[in-house]
Amino acid sequence: MTSRYLGNKNTKEFHDLQHQTPKCNISEIVERVYFTSEQQAKRAGYDPCDHCLEGSTR
Ligand SMILES: [Zn+2]
Repeated sequence: MTSRYLGNKNTKEFHDLQHQTPKCNISEIVERVYFTSEQQAKRAGYDPCDHCLEGSTR
């Protein structure tokens, strides 16, 4: 099982680690939760990051 998607528990945003950009500030995420798919992250109530994921609603 891979954990490609990283969620930030504080902001409720998640990132695609295979397309992360410096703007994602991945290293500054303290409260981390991992997902195996975008669908799983969305179902858990997380929003896709503008910088590394398509289809962001923000
Ligand atoms: Zn991101």
